[in-house]
Amino acid sequence: MSDVSPIEREVARRRTFAIISHPDAGKTTLTEKLLLFAGAIHIAGSVKARKASRHATSDWMEIEKQRGISVASSVMQMEYRDCVINLLDTPGHQDFSEDTYRVLTAVDAALMVIDGANGVESQTLRLLEVCRARNTPIITFINKFDREVQEPLSLIDEIERTLGMPAVPFTWPVGMGKGFAGVFDMPKNRMRVFRAGEERVSGEEESIDGRDNPEIAARFDTRWEHAQHDIELVEMAAPAFDREAFLAGKQTPVFFGSAINNFGVQEVLDALVDMAPPPGDRTAIQRYVHVDEPKFSGVVFKIQANMDPAHRDRVAFVRICSGRFDRGMKLKISRNGKELRTNNVVSFLSQSREIVDEAFPGDIIGIPNHGLLQLGDTLTEGEVLQFTGLPFFAPELFQTVEVKDPLRTKQLRTGLAQLGEEGAIQVFRPQAGTMILLGAVGTLQFEVVQHRLKTEYGVEARLGSTNYRLARWVTCEDPNILKRFIDANAHRIAYDVVDAPTFLASHSAELQVAGERYPEVKFHALREHA
Ligand code: GDP
Repeated sequence: MSDVSPIEREVARRRTFAIISHPDAGKTTLTEKLLLFAGAIHIAGSVKARKASRHATSDWMEIEKQRGISVASSVMQMEYRDCVINLLDTPGHQDFSEDTYRVLTAVDAALMVIDGANGVESQTLRLLEVCRARNTPIITFINKFDREVQEPLSLIDEIERTLGMPAVPFTWPVGMGKGFAGVFDMPKNRMRVFRAGEERVSGEEESIDGRDNPEIAARFDTRWEHAQHDIELVEMAAPAFDREAFLAGKQTPVFFGSAINNFGVQEVLDALVDMAPPPGDRTAIQRYVHVDEPKFSGVVFKIQANMDPAHRDRVAFVRICSGRFDRGMKLKISRNGKELRTNNVVSFLSQSREIVDEAFPGDIIGIPNHGLLQLGDTLTEGEVLQFTGLPFFAPELFQTVEVKDPLRTKQLRTGLAQLGEEGAIQVFRPQAGTMILLGAVGTLQFEVVQHRLKTEYGVEARLGSTNYRLARWVTCEDPNILKRFIDANAHRIAYDVVDAPTFLASHSAELQVAGERYPEVKFHALREHA
């Protein structure tokens, strides 16, 4: 009877989001609890296991071990209230990494976890910049109210200042630390009473209805007085929730709780279902792609190489952008027209990778391959499309790389080519000379690459310092001017993995001078895969 297509129906019930936070704010704990509500308990266990291994040692060799474990749980799918929720973990390491940014291009919303004691921290700020650049809607969860934390009003104030957008509290904490009494749910006009306990699921919590209910005042006396005073202030000062503004990334709903006690978590899950957007339309270079078009399209936003070192396999993570995926369907890579078989495509429903039969926009599928797929690749049923928006960041750190044993030069090249395609590091070939340059935005990337060259490609690489401090991709509408610029700056030009010319400088003044001499040339700090 209804004229809603099956694809439209599936799209409407999907929510794809990433959890972002500064390390130790409670991302892993919250993830586990979210999964508990959806009944996906074994994944929760694996999140814990992964976390345990992360804490076991602090050296980054752990990353190596984790890679195997984390892949299954870096994308998690669960069902809650008839919604299919895809939750993407962002890499948890302290060091800032490009991978995280790319994950954020694959989601429709973000859940920001803040430690109530520490407020908005550095890592969160950097991630927020990406969300803001893409107008990604953000839901905020302020964690750890079972501890002595900052005053909720000042936390709200800090969020508003750092995010540069109004924060609209949906719940408000009553007390904190040992005196944490619960949260008052403003839209539902009821108090949820706190009880410590880790494994509690829904249905067991106590609520007291009504803000004027004398029971609340009687039981929680000064704490309630304090909270009520705050709530009144907030109601006067904060704007009403405006869903359009939230969807445009211009307002964030805020929830308080304690992840470890599974308190305030369900409210967040409900908010995701009720407020976060379903997958939307996406921009390709050629045209606008509607999410409910019948034909499949998807984009590779992450590549995980050598998950099983014995097999040299890689999994390309693809976000489905339109249509439906059916196992066995033939897909084409728009970049080169090559065809791809999809019999062994995997989903991330549980710890083990499972073969997927069908999937819809917003879902993430994993395609095992041997180097056929690159970051940013668009897959379709045949039409040539290239989605935009997968960012590469201009590196801020540079090292030269050489092989210790010249007989291993070929292996070095292969390794760097693959690690470069995976996005683990950026590889530049200077126009002059034979030295290869590595570019990164976080120092850890160098260590990881050096280690992986050794373990996966048998190459002992020697890294050396350079004077370069910044890089800008250069373009110009007039190819002749660009050529002149490149010739004049030959000693400062290098080419990246897709042969895009890049200007290298050791000081921003050099960039400024070059820009003044060649006003027609554009310098880009971010290259979108195109
Ligand atoms: P992540 O690094 O953001 O994934 O943080 P985790 O989830 O691993 O949490 C970091 C630490 O904070 C762990 O020791 C958790 O047990 C603890 N933690 C998480 N949530 C809470 C909470 O609600 N209250 C308290 N007191 N501790 C918490």
